[in-house]
This record gives sequence, C-alpha cells and structure tokens, in this order.
Amino acid sequence: MLFRTLALALTFVAACAAPTAPLPRNAAPPLATEAQILAAEQQPLSSDWREWNNPTAPFNIIGNIHYVGAEGISAFLITTPDGHILLDGAFAQTAPQIIANVERLGFHMRDVRYLLNSHAHVDHAAGLARLQLASGAQMVASEADRGALEAGRFPYGPSEDLTFPPIRVDRVIADNETLTLGGVTLTALVTPGHTPGCTSWLMDVTGADGAAHRALFHCSATVAGQSLAPPAYPNIVSDFESTFARLRTIQADVLLTNHPGFMDLEQRRARQAAGDANAFVDPHALPALNARLEAAFREELARQRAAHN
Ligand SMILES: [Zn+2]
Repeated sequence: MLFRTLALALTFVAACAAPTAPLPRNAAPPLATEAQILAAEQQPLSSDWREWNNPTAPFNIIGNIHYVGAEGISAFLITTPDGHILLDGAFAQTAPQIIANVERLGFHMRDVRYLLNSHAHVDHAAGLARLQLASGAQMVASEADRGALEAGRFPYGPSEDLTFPPIRVDRVIADNETLTLGGVTLTALVTPGHTPGCTSWLMDVTGADGAAHRALFHCSATVAGQSLAPPAYPNIVSDFESTFARLRTIQADVLLTNHPGFMDLEQRRARQAAGDANAFVDPHALPALNARLEAAFREELARQRAAHN
C-alpha cells in the first residue's frame, strides 16, 4: 500500500512537472562528430559566398514566423507553444549565427523540435548538423534529397566537390504530407528541379491585424549552373516544368525564399520598420517570382540545348 501510494504520488509529481507530453527526442546518434562540425565552421568561405554570410539582425516577419538567417542566406524560425520549427541550416559557417539569432529573439535552441530543409545544397544544408546537435530536434526531409543530406555532399552540379557535415534524417516527408506542432501545420510541397527533392512548405499565419494569411516557404527554382542538356538527372527538365506549373496554382500571400533577395527582404523590412505591419503580405510576389524563374529557366534550357546539339 505504501509503495502504491508512493508510486501514485510520483506519477502525480511527474504529471505536474510536465503539463504537456514531451515529443520524442532523438535517440539515434548524430552522423557528424562535433569535431567535424567545428572544422567545417572554421573553413573560410569562398569570396562570392562570404557576403551572403554577413550577419544580420533577426526579426519577426509576420505572426509566428521569424527571420534568423544571414544577410544573403535565409533561415526561418516558426514558433509554437509546444516548441519550434527551424527551416534551413545555411552554410556550416552560418549555424553559429542562426543559433545566436534564435536566442537573441528570446527563444531557445533546446525548444526546437523539428528541423526542415528547402534543399540539400551546401548553402542551405551544411549548417543543419550543428543545429541538430544544439537542439536534439528531428530532421524532416524529402526522400529524394535525403541521400545528399546523409552523405554530406550533393552529387552533381557546381557544388559537387564540396562536402559538409552529414545530417541524420529522422523522418521522410512525402509530397502533400503535413507536419503539425503546437497548432501549426506545415504542408510539404515537393517542387523538384533545382534538386530532385526540393521542398517548399505552406502554412497559415495570422497577421498583426488578426487577418489570416498563407505563407509559402519557396524552394529555389533557379538553374544555378546545373546541366539541363545533357540532363544532370533524368527528369530534371520535366521536374522544373511541373514545379512552375504547380506553383501557378498555389495561392499564398506571404512569400518566403531561401535567399532574401528573391523576397525583397531588405525593402520589405524597411517598410515594416517604418510602420507597415503587412510589409511581407503581397499576393503578387509568388506569381511574379515564379514567372521570372520560369522565363530564366526557358532561356537557359534553349541556350544549353543549342550548345549541346
Ligand atoms: Zn541550391
């Protein structure tokens, strides 16, 4: 009886200490050692990438979406009462800035539950191993980009010779599948072409005025020096084409991109600082970017085909 009372009392204490059930944390070991991560962070960036990595102050974009990236390379923090979601790790050299930015906004890395990745190129994925180590969060990625994340190397194109600390993928997410945390639901849209598993994410967000908006975290759709003719991978051309067609059907009035220039971040941030709480709300931004990237793709495809034949 005494033991039973004690057990009940302990159960009660445990229940009081943790009012919400903690989410499962990672039991599996990381793929990269801390020494490997540190070595990657200390490597100098090439001159054209150094400016992208300049620090910039973190800030709230809209609702529970915050910018925690560097000047030329994005990372987004989505906060919820049950923990947070962090999208993209940028370069290995960016990860310490991302961590500092999260804390500077008053949030904690230990509360990050999920890490997401737009795509497995070095400039968006290399910092993820550090972010996983700092948070214990689960890495969620598309099947088609998982191999590159876990290998720590994207297998073709301009960055094929660059390695980065490998990252363990804990959950594979399929096209149209959702991820829910603390009342926030993100829907994965696999928008391939730029990489085979390039993943955009859709989520509902509430503006400062209480109005409902829909945000799209856009995975890049630039050709970015990759080979269309001959194809870098068998479906690269039809993948790009289906991505442009699909994004024409998506309604989103907050466009968030993995390089700030594609979302006019500096201009919108200045307008926000001047008092426009809806500076990032713009239903024309996604169709305009999609049309611009499709035109650039068509031009590059024609150029490469002419050169290749
Ligand atoms: Zn890329």
